[in-house]
Amino acid sequence: MTSGQRPLPQPTDITRPYWDAAAEHKLAIQECQACGARQFYPREFCIACLSGQLRWLPCSGKGTIYTFTVNHRAANSYMKERLPYVVAAIDLDEGTRMLANILDAPADALRIGARVQVVFEDLPDGMALPQFRIDG
Ligand SMILES: [Zn+2]
Repeated sequence: MTSGQRPLPQPTDITRPYWDAAAEHKLAIQECQACGARQFYPREFCIACLSGQLRWLPCSGKGTIYTFTVNHRAANSYMKERLPYVVAAIDLDEGTRMLANILDAPADALRIGARVQVVFEDLPDGMALPQFRIDG
């Protein structure tokens, strides 16, 4: 990795549908066809009942900030250029929690319980990374 490049996702057989959806600027999570549980991140089986019968559920991309932190030290050279940046745990309206950056968040709007909407950061090779912005 050269300085200033974002580390790119490395899809696996299990995560590829998630990244394929993201490339089309769609957010998708797994839903168990046996018990109805929903989960993120992608896994080979349902974490509620261990069934392997999972399907991909398109999401609204809307959610609520469960918690967040403002990073002042970067994990890599690419993020160093974005300091300070926000990492949040987001409760999707579809019932799962995911980690993502909150982009361009005004300090007075960044709070636990704030509503957020997914946006997609385009990456090289046609990929895209789900991120979030404060909604409204
Ligand atoms: Zn299940």
